[in-house]
Amino acid sequence: MNNHSFPELREGVRQVVSAFDSRYWQEVDEARAFPEKFVTALTQAGWLAGLIPEEYGGAGLSLTQASVVMEEINRAGGNSGACHGQMYVMGCIVRHGTDQQKQDLLPRIARGEIRMQSMAVTEPSTGSDTTKLKTTAVRKGDRYRINGQKVWTSRLQHSDYMLLLARTTPLAEVKKKSEGLSVFLVDLREAVGKTITVRPIRNMVNHETNEIFIDNLEVPVENRIGEEGRGLKYILDGLNAERILIAAECIGDGYWFTEKASAYAKQRVVFDRPIGQNQGIQFPIARAFVNVEAASLMRYRACELFDAGIHCGAEANMSKLLAADASWEAANVCLQTHGGFGFASEYDIERKFRETRLYQVAPISTNMILSYLGEHVLGMPRSY
Ligand SMILES: Cc1cc2nc3c(=O)[nH]c(=O)nc-3n(C[C@H](O)[C@H](O)[C@H](O)COP(=O)(O)OP(=O)(O)OC[C@H]3O[C@@H](n4cnc5c(N)ncnc54)[C@H](O)[C@@H]3O)c2cc1C
Repeated sequence: MNNHSFPELREGVRQVVSAFDSRYWQEVDEARAFPEKFVTALTQAGWLAGLIPEEYGGAGLSLTQASVVMEEINRAGGNSGACHGQMYVMGCIVRHGTDQQKQDLLPRIARGEIRMQSMAVTEPSTGSDTTKLKTTAVRKGDRYRINGQKVWTSRLQHSDYMLLLARTTPLAEVKKKSEGLSVFLVDLREAVGKTITVRPIRNMVNHETNEIFIDNLEVPVENRIGEEGRGLKYILDGLNAERILIAAECIGDGYWFTEKASAYAKQRVVFDRPIGQNQGIQFPIARAFVNVEAASLMRYRACELFDAGIHCGAEANMSKLLAADASWEAANVCLQTHGGFGFASEYDIERKFRETRLYQVAPISTNMILSYLGEHVLGMPRSY
């Protein structure tokens, strides 16, 4: 497989995203607005329901195909960050939900009637140390009462439902720190403005993300996903797919940057020759392209294992690391190739540069990936 595989799929995605040109992205970026028309168009075309099984009205794509969808969005200059949650958050319901939860939610998500593209895991005081999170869910009869605080909860203002991870058994009472956490489905239409207070966080990219304060939020028992106390495992089960899809977005960015850089290097004439004739300009672009291609191969390898039902923790993490590094390198090279013009918003480079930088930190930071590989693949001592 290579960057031309699945031509019809690529063409189908391009038909939708090509309607959203450079001007559109500049306007939403400048206004810090949610790209509503773009997300609606992708939803209506069925692409965001790609991973929902056909029996629930989705496209039933493999992860390999879904990754190509995300790659194409970013390769066309778009920003999947506004919509990738809709593609993978519902995976938790597919894998661990009850029949009733699946029947209720998945067909409506597939038809675009509801959005479930928000997941509240990170907390301000505990960060990457997820098992220490402080939000609690206490069961009283057939309801849970949830209290706490989350940060960086993305796309919440454009979601009807979100998944939330909370502690149901105190840390001091569990054998392993990963136990005693549970996942809940929260109906945001009922809760926001009442038991959930939302404080938007203005940030470096045009990414709708928030701090949220949860005050006596009541959730019925039937909105718990899977068994009580096994929530962290359910969230972790979804992370390989998430990492691979994010890797594909980085790869899309990487191709966008290298294509943009090489096109400019061919036509920009300085000292009476195209700047791309200088190897000082040409080689960094070529090297960045090599690294994007290599990351893409690791992405396909991770997808292949995932689609075959084979554990792919190492490959998913490696593809995310390689892809995030490759897109960041390509972003730097593209900016450098454009000289001063790279800083002008109308070229889109400074926007994509900011957007691709995020992938070094979220949804998982580079150090956490290296730590996983050091411990689980190379057998070195656990560091935290
Ligand atoms: C725009 C944006 C959107 C996000 N969306 C969501 C979302 O929708 N839902 C959600 O739950 N979260 C979301 N996040 C949160 C994101 O997952 C976290 O920011 C990320 O996991 C890192 O956590 P932290 O920011 O608390 O950093 P910290 O945990 O405070 O860490 C700070 C730095 O130190 C490093 N570090 C920490 N401990 C170690 C160690 N033992 N060894 C080596 N390095 C270490 C980290 O890797 C990081 O680089 C989002 C973040 C951003 C910026």
